[in-house]
Amino acid sequence: MSLRFNALDKLTANGNIEVATTPKITGIFATNVFTLKVAREFLSDEAYKSLVNSTRSGQKIDRTIANQIASGIRSWAESKGVTHFTHWFQPLTGTTAEKHDSFFTIKSDGTPIEQFEGDALIQQEPDASSFPSGGLRATFEARGYTAWDPSSPAFIMEIGNGKTLCIPTIFVSYTGESLDYKAPLLKAVEALNKAAVDVCNYFDKNVSRVTPTLGWEQEYFVVDEALFNARPDLVMCGRTVFGHNSAKNQQLEDHYFGSIPERVYAYIRDFETECYKVGIPLRTRHNEVAPAQFECAPIFEEVSVAVDHNSLLMDIMDRVARRHKLRVLLHEKPFAGINGSGKHNNWSMSTDTGVNLLAPGKTPKTNLMFLTFFVNTIKAVHDYADILRASIASAPNDHRLGANEAPPAIISVFIGQYLSKVLSDVKERVSSKFDEQDESMLKIDIHKSIPELLMDNTDRNRTSPFAFTGNKFEFRAVGSSANCANPMTVLNTIMAETLKQFKEEVDKLIEKGEKKEIAIMHVIREYIVESEKVLFEGDGYSAAWEKEAEKRGLPNVKTTPLALDAMITDKAKILFESNEIYTHEELEARHEIELERYIKKVQIESRIMGELATSHILPPAIRYQNLLSNNIKGLKEAGLPESAYSNQKQILDKISEHINKASDMVEKMIEARKTCNAMTNTRTKAIAYQSQVKDTFFDEIRYHVDKLEILVDDREWYLPRYRELLFLR
Ligand code: ADP
Ligand code: MG
Repeated sequence: MSLRFNALDKLTANGNIEVATTPKITGIFATNVFTLKVAREFLSDEAYKSLVNSTRSGQKIDRTIANQIASGIRSWAESKGVTHFTHWFQPLTGTTAEKHDSFFTIKSDGTPIEQFEGDALIQQEPDASSFPSGGLRATFEARGYTAWDPSSPAFIMEIGNGKTLCIPTIFVSYTGESLDYKAPLLKAVEALNKAAVDVCNYFDKNVSRVTPTLGWEQEYFVVDEALFNARPDLVMCGRTVFGHNSAKNQQLEDHYFGSIPERVYAYIRDFETECYKVGIPLRTRHNEVAPAQFECAPIFEEVSVAVDHNSLLMDIMDRVARRHKLRVLLHEKPFAGINGSGKHNNWSMSTDTGVNLLAPGKTPKTNLMFLTFFVNTIKAVHDYADILRASIASAPNDHRLGANEAPPAIISVFIGQYLSKVLSDVKERVSSKFDEQDESMLKIDIHKSIPELLMDNTDRNRTSPFAFTGNKFEFRAVGSSANCANPMTVLNTIMAETLKQFKEEVDKLIEKGEKKEIAIMHVIREYIVESEKVLFEGDGYSAAWEKEAEKRGLPNVKTTPLALDAMITDKAKILFESNEIYTHEELEARHEIELERYIKKVQIESRIMGELATSHILPPAIRYQNLLSNNIKGLKEAGLPESAYSNQKQILDKISEHINKASDMVEKMIEARKTCNAMTNTRTKAIAYQSQVKDTFFDEIRYHVDKLEILVDDREWYLPRYRELLFLR
């Protein structure tokens, strides 16, 4: 029996796995986290203070204090049965990395002890030579170091009965170049803090820290493990490279917000519990639009912690799914013809005085502050749309962007009717002769219109890649498997840069004798005029928008290799260098890594297509072809008229045609790969893989294979079908 039928056979036997239930989430929340509250208990006053200062304002921790903190963390961890620790980091592979060491060691006199010293907390040198570095380590120094990031709390990861203390770290080369996602993000957070505090101080001198906030929404598919295992493409690429649409897919929209199937529900509750323990504040769960698609979202947090939590979540979701004999698909487009998965990044900034800078204020003054940050965001997105686009570029996201229910590759901003009107009012009324009389403008009563804003919000545009949703922007073009750090690094950097420029321009006007508020209004107006072409309220999925966007001169780069170009333009280099996020070398290295990753992904998909076509598709198709041809031969020999086998002959013709076309294409695709592989320039090679391999062959081969799927005897077909993957649990 084929894996497919085996899997189908076993399906009904897959009962629900018992899930430990907790009456209250607060009872387990963050029980495995070294929170400041726990730190208070396990650390001396001095060590505690030092940790708090380091967490809140990045102050350095000295060696002796680090020893104290390490020993406090170890006592806490041991009290929870932990024997091992690891530096936990996010290399540019896109997954998380850990290397476990035990507390156990032997002293010089032979005494075995458990120990965890400051040095081990602060820095480690993992044997990390095979993490991607884009040539950075080759150029500079082969070693890579992980360094403790005190802004993200240590936590205990439970795997089965094993418990490991995880220390969140950044990963850098010996000479300090970032080799991970986290280090640049922390730099961007700092850049934004500086620039935003300066601007906030126009309005409120008490603001001394601004922190970007992130609330991600993670979409995913869940499939049965045995069916998954019978699909080598899912196993190898996380997506189906073949598969005919099922008769029913999402057209009835009966899955969206429907009741969650019981087996999946048990899985969700189980991974949620694991998440709560490590402090991930999950809040919502629901079915998504596509069958077998779901979403979860937490309460928002400071961006660096939110990024760690999302990486941790993806890891936990994967592990817990296996426990339930399920598999979670985080790929952006696991199935053709139905929705893909995104990871909306809800982003805002908040001050240490407790103000959300993207929430309309309650007084004219706070409203002007809101308007300032709101318009600066639009300006940032307008000026750096290409870099923002590059930050979400990946091979899997290419399948999603611009397809069903996914924003296009054009970066535009949706702000809703009401705020559109506010902006056009500002534009009209703050004339170049703006003077005291126009000061009424400063009193725009946005807060009075909050109900209106909310209406705008509920009625909001789901087709926009970057939408204002009441008190935050939602960056919707981020892919479901992506690490949020990259888009968040870019967003916070471009915001920092824009705010810096803004302050310079306002200060210039003030120096010329303009009143502060009036100076601010002038620059806001200027920014509205300069960036209004990025605003779009209509249907982002429509073909008309593509045309319109082109007319407006907005970039629309559809493929990853070309979208990535924006990372290494002079504009990008100046932006990232002047904000101290990336050096030119680091940018070049990252660009190279992204291109290489793209090439590898397309290469693997192409190989899997070839392999599957040859070993899974053609054999049953040929057997069925034989059956038909023998049948026809038999009928002929029995002396029956042609009309008795003309239908069979038609089917036979079709099958033969698809077999020939598919196998012919597979051969040609192998040749095309060889040509690409001989290329030495990474960018040229990536473009070739995209145009000569992916675009030339993928859809074409798939077309013939999917036709065969519906022509060949179902009992002979090896690969689980869409209806089975999507509807059976
Ligand atoms: P939806 O987008 O599905 O309507 P919500 O508007 O409730 O859902 O929120 C979506 C996400 O936005 C949640 O993860 C939430 O935590 C996050 N969010 C809300 N406020 C902020 C904020 N100020 N900064 C960042 N994220 C936020
Ligand atoms: Mg949303």
